[in-house]
Amino acid sequence: MNVHDAVRMAALLRDVMGYISVEEPEQADLIILNTCHIREKAAEKIFSELGRLRKLVAGRPVIFAVGGCVGQAEGDHIFQRAPFVSLVFGPQNYHQLPEMLIRLEQQGGRIEERGESAPSKFDALPAITTPGPIASVVVQEGCNRFCTYCVVPFTRGREWSRPVEAIVDEARGLLANGARELHLLGQNVNAYQAMDRDGVVHDLALLLRRVALLPGLERMRFVTSHPADMNDDLVEVFGQLESLCPYLHLPIQSGSDRVLARMARGHTVNEYLDWIEKLRQVSPGIALASDFIVGFPGETEADFLETLELARTVQFDHAYSFVFSARPGTEAAEMSDAVPLEVGQARLARLQALLQEVQLAKNQARIGCIESVLVEGLAKRGEGELTGRSQHGRTVNFPGDPALIGHLVQVVITEGLPNSLRGRLT
Ligand code: SAH
Ligand code: SF4
Repeated sequence: MNVHDAVRMAALLRDVMGYISVEEPEQADLIILNTCHIREKAAEKIFSELGRLRKLVAGRPVIFAVGGCVGQAEGDHIFQRAPFVSLVFGPQNYHQLPEMLIRLEQQGGRIEERGESAPSKFDALPAITTPGPIASVVVQEGCNRFCTYCVVPFTRGREWSRPVEAIVDEARGLLANGARELHLLGQNVNAYQAMDRDGVVHDLALLLRRVALLPGLERMRFVTSHPADMNDDLVEVFGQLESLCPYLHLPIQSGSDRVLARMARGHTVNEYLDWIEKLRQVSPGIALASDFIVGFPGETEADFLETLELARTVQFDHAYSFVFSARPGTEAAEMSDAVPLEVGQARLARLQALLQEVQLAKNQARIGCIESVLVEGLAKRGEGELTGRSQHGRTVNFPGDPALIGHLVQVVITEGLPNSLRGRLT
């Protein structure tokens, strides 16, 4: 979502204000940090990054701005810690950037804009005209779940679903401009619910059916889903829509029912496992990804062993895992039975060793398979190599002609590495 927001900010500044993007901070007149507040480490990083950037541009009158969720949550605090910052805004305010910059030029001083609602942002943003082969469409923003550890409901705001027609029109425009794969985005995307002009209520499954009909669409995915907002129809679409990639990111966080209850996740481990079973019945081989938090307050060694057990049982294709980070204003930050950081870090290392072992084995199992890959660009490493993703979301690198960028190609897999596959064109 943050990547998407940054692309839209750049497009807005280009279309409305005539700004152009530059490669190096030394060339910039305006530097915007689009920030994340989800864990303390992410939020703290912006201050060291601001210091580093300021040194690079020393002596030039550069406007520094902090946008995103740290802007929303920490407002004044940013001006205090980094007095050279002159603009602070939240994730629902970036459409006001042109107006904020004009005001700043006229009045000087500092400007802060926080806490608008998502609908006004979408009404004000210009259409994305140069999407590339993969484009994102925001379908839902914010969250009402209030998991006890999470800042998202406070920073992104309450849950809001975009109107069906707005999504379908935007998707159609992106495909007409050359996009082949669409990512439907939302903080809690499977809570999507909106009525179309004919009065038909759409959940995410029905929205996917609508988008699947659009001409030019080769592939689509959606992130991020919540287990307690799954439904049978959303499982069914994996067996029915050819363009829907066999990939689901379904965060579990913990394998202990006791911890899940204290996180207020609203489901049990067995309910989660039932969804996994249903998905695998409808779409055998579906790639499953997840998120984990270890060291949540009160997590015992026995709870943690249940998390390891769950990871072993499900065999995730990919997973993100984190040590619990106490976030201001959340319920879990006030819980009295915090787990010492060293214990959390040691558990994280054990969990990651298991997750990586499974991921590597799954990647190696692809050797000899033919993967359909949407070519995204030149590989970071390796001369003349291209990179793209398989239907299951795995990065695939292979030698090929850059003219293939933007096309779907067939690649035979020859190597399964920890985080990617290598192969050659068929
Ligand atoms: N809406 C998604 C995820 C949103 S945040 C969901 O409900 O699953 C992305 C991930 O960051 C979460 O899944 C969680 O694993 C992690 N996360 C969120 N808050 C955290 C915290 N306070 N400490 C550590 N990890 C956290
Ligand atoms: Fe945060 Fe996800 Fe829980 Fe919402 S559902 S509060 S975004 S972890």
